[in-house]
Amino acid sequence: MTLRRTLSTVGVAALLGATLIGSPAAASFVVGSGGDAAACVDPAALGAAKARPGGAAKHDPNEISASEAAAREKNLADTLRQRAKVGGTSALAATVTIEVVVHVISEDGTRANGSITDAMINNQISVLNTSYAGGFGGVNTGFQFHLQAIDRQIKPAWYPIVYTSTAEKQMKAALRTGGKGTLNIYTGSLSDDLLGWATFPKSQADTYDGVVILAESLPGGTASPYNLGDTATHEVGHWLNLYHTFQGGCNGNGDQVADTPAEKSAAFGCPANRDTCPSKAGLDPIHNYMDYTDDSCMYEFTAGQAARMSSAWTAYRA
Ligand SMILES: [Zn+2]
Repeated sequence: MTLRRTLSTVGVAALLGATLIGSPAAASFVVGSGGDAAACVDPAALGAAKARPGGAAKHDPNEISASEAAAREKNLADTLRQRAKVGGTSALAATVTIEVVVHVISEDGTRANGSITDAMINNQISVLNTSYAGGFGGVNTGFQFHLQAIDRQIKPAWYPIVYTSTAEKQMKAALRTGGKGTLNIYTGSLSDDLLGWATFPKSQADTYDGVVILAESLPGGTASPYNLGDTATHEVGHWLNLYHTFQGGCNGNGDQVADTPAEKSAAFGCPANRDTCPSKAGLDPIHNYMDYTDDSCMYEFTAGQAARMSSAWTAYRA
């Protein structure tokens, strides 16, 4: 059963109490690979999540390999263990409110070239809050979002935003705001027909950290069927350490979350009763935000995903 969401549902988050448990920690940042020849610009080393493509024919430029996933899992476990040894806590408070800065990149200040409205951005924050509270379905993840600032940039040199380009790195180095727990979202027209991409959390934060999304994927945008705001929900999931539901295919630990059924490959549209791993329990999790289905088809995170995001927050962003 699918849940058709419309802009009229975005007010739900306002009914849900959110508690701010401290402002984002100050962090020392290193400049992220901004065109320095000595810097590593390998996408995996930068921790970039596989982007969500804008159509079934488009493959993502940076899906992580099984060995990369294994290395990331070891780092997460090691980091949590180290935190526990120095008196840190592995338990997340009831609600974490993440400060958000949205950088609107435009070529010339027109809507056609990136200048989306404040209303779209406010509606996007509402969609994030409702999604992460379980307001469309699934669990309450314990994460909420507060729009700290909208930063409008008219800069042809940064437009469109080209994945892993020197211009993208320079843009982020110039604009990134706040500590490692501040979510920086960059919007614009994107290269390669992509809907977005994100960095995974990691021990050494840098200025490349953040989420890039197609401007017209925001609620009320033109990128139908991806214009209800779930590209941001999906990419923020990566920023909080979630993998795609189809990571690893049918075998092994998949997306490292026990309660998302195994899935062999990305699903598009909203296919009923899809089961690409018939030897494993459960139908494909096509309604999960971390698949590739239409925005109107995806409406849930699981308890396992919420726990994984909480662990990652504690390890890398708190
Ligand atoms: Zn993705």
